[in-house]
Amino acid sequence: MSRIVKINKELKIGDGGFITIAGPCSIENLDHMIETVEFLSKQGIKLIRGGIFKPRTDPDSFQGIGEEGFKIFKQIKADYAVSIISEIMDPRDVEEAMDYIDIIQIGARNMQNYSLLKEIGRTNKPVMLKRGMSATINEWINAARYIEKEGNPNIILCERGIRTFETYTRNILDLMSIPIIKNETDYPIIIDPSHGTGRRELIIPASKAAKILDADGIMVEVHPNPEKALSDGEQSLDFKEFQELNKEINKLD
Ligand code: PEP
Ligand code: MN
Repeated sequence: MSRIVKINKELKIGDGGFITIAGPCSIENLDHMIETVEFLSKQGIKLIRGGIFKPRTDPDSFQGIGEEGFKIFKQIKADYAVSIISEIMDPRDVEEAMDYIDIIQIGARNMQNYSLLKEIGRTNKPVMLKRGMSATINEWINAARYIEKEGNPNIILCERGIRTFETYTRNILDLMSIPIIKNETDYPIIIDPSHGTGRRELIIPASKAAKILDADGIMVEVHPNPEKALSDGEQSLDFKEFQELNKEINKLD
């Protein structure tokens, strides 16, 4: 059995259920977020993803809307019964994030940013720790222990694919990390089929595999118009594709 990470009164991760977290890679503006959340909440989605601080490989590409995004989260949470997961990259942003974000995401590039891990470890905010793109499972578990050692047990792991010689997919989604994490730890584990494959057409098969292997859920990128997305459009589902994903996931019940 996993430990149960409580997000709010109704929402728990690790209790044996399978949660679908969905939303855009980046939050682009308020209207874009409202359109997406309006759709997703009608589909029953209770936990919305969306980056405002974006760790981009190319310094010239869109870096996220930054702190302005906190206000968008505030409004979304006032108007819809949803919780928010979003990445924090800088320990100096942790305190402000407490009031607006329900789960702090630590991205793959920051998995071993020990000052960030410790800063979040000193809060009791739920935290989703993504696996580094070249991290072994052991290094990943040790990174989680840095958070836990500071006193925060509310840790969820997220497998988002690792880098190998293969270039067909953006990363290799290491699905064996699900039974391994379940055997070695009691952390809940979420699969990210979007970054894990980098290809829209592989998101449904990857998600189905995650559910069959008893992951605690998936986190998937969804955009009203993926061709126009400011980041990760090629791995984002449009609304129709998301409905198809939901249908396929529910069939496995
Ligand atoms: C993301 O979730 O948008 C993201 C940047 O993911 P990762 O840290 O896994 O690359
Ligand atoms: Mn992304």
